[in-house]
Amino acid sequence: MKTNAYAAQNATTPLAPFSFERRKLGKHDVQIEILYCGVCHSDLHTVRSEWGSTTYPCVPGHEIVGRVLKVGKDVNKFKEGDTVGVGCMVDSCRTCANCKDNLEQFCEKGTIFTYNSPDKHTGGITYGGYSESIVVDKEFVLKIPKNLDLAATAPLLCAGITTYSPLRYHNVTKGQKVGVVGLGGLGHVGVKLAKALGAHVVVFTTSPSKVEDALRLGADEVVNSKNEDEMQKHLNSFHFILDTVSAQHDINTYLLMLRRDGNLTQVGVPPDPLLLSVGSLIFGRRSMSGSLIGGIKETQEMLDFCGKHNVTADIELIPIQNINEAYDRLVKSDVKYRFVIDMASLKQALS
Ligand code: NAP
Ligand code: ZN
Ligand code: ZN
Repeated sequence: MKTNAYAAQNATTPLAPFSFERRKLGKHDVQIEILYCGVCHSDLHTVRSEWGSTTYPCVPGHEIVGRVLKVGKDVNKFKEGDTVGVGCMVDSCRTCANCKDNLEQFCEKGTIFTYNSPDKHTGGITYGGYSESIVVDKEFVLKIPKNLDLAATAPLLCAGITTYSPLRYHNVTKGQKVGVVGLGGLGHVGVKLAKALGAHVVVFTTSPSKVEDALRLGADEVVNSKNEDEMQKHLNSFHFILDTVSAQHDINTYLLMLRRDGNLTQVGVPPDPLLLSVGSLIFGRRSMSGSLIGGIKETQEMLDFCGKHNVTADIELIPIQNINEAYDRLVKSDVKYRFVIDMASLKQALS
């Protein structure tokens, strides 16, 4: 099935129109017309090969919302016309211990991510959501709550689950003091989710221009992380800190803000190693961990939670023709607060 898309042909040239063959609909598959696709900083890291493992051409995009066009004969859960989502994964072995624990993102045989993963159906690599349609196994397709705006829901498929999962895993509850470092795509959704869980939320930003927005998004306090005096006030006080920063930064400063037994979870993936001063962990028995998206079951739970609490992303809807400019703005931390591609623009790009 010929599918139009935008792809990167190498790490340095702009994304441009590209077409390829999607696999035929199998009996467990759902064919989806993509309506909206969020733009995650991981798309940019991958397109520019900043993590060093990109296969080209690369069609990024793993925050997909669309409409079911067709289902395979063994699919009962979805039908033509349903609104559905696809996040960062499209398959896994389903038999290893981690898959059985609903943690397909840690599949021992290798998670099949939505793009840049080996594709057993085509023998090539998987191609993501900057495209007009996608074919996905029904077990990796999510239901979208009916009350949510579709374009603003797309970012939940990655930014939503990536922030929801560690907040839940670390039992963030009412009355706890929670820090969110970096107010970008992940960070701003993290603020909304931590608030919905009842936490007292403090945002750390390097961008003074985002202070008012952070408060509007629900933060109780905002700290300019470049201001030493403001930072000092929060030493030893946090139960939990979620670090979403995409570039090099000093994590020890944040570890020292944790109270005894507090945890900092790193979800941002800066391309270069971060320097850890172990003293910041030893004093106070603090811990630092990482977290990768979340399993399919938890992703559905997150979407339902967002439906109940009316949580979506604050987005800038862009035509796909503006994707390269959007990437340049992402690098400058200039996004309010997630770019989402209106996939109807792809047809215009080609006509
Ligand atoms: P984003 O929208 O670009 O947000 C990142 C934010 O980090 C920026 O808005 C900025 O916030 C802050 N920042 C950027 N450069 C900084 C620097 N040099 N020093 C301090 N702060 C800086 O990116 P995103 O889409 O939210 O993704 C964030 C990171 O998470 C990326 O590395 C991405 O690959 C990763 N990610 C991980 C997972 C996972 O499963 N673990 C999933 C998705 C994404 P302020 O302007 O407020 O300072
Ligand atoms: Zn992502
Ligand atoms: Zn597995």
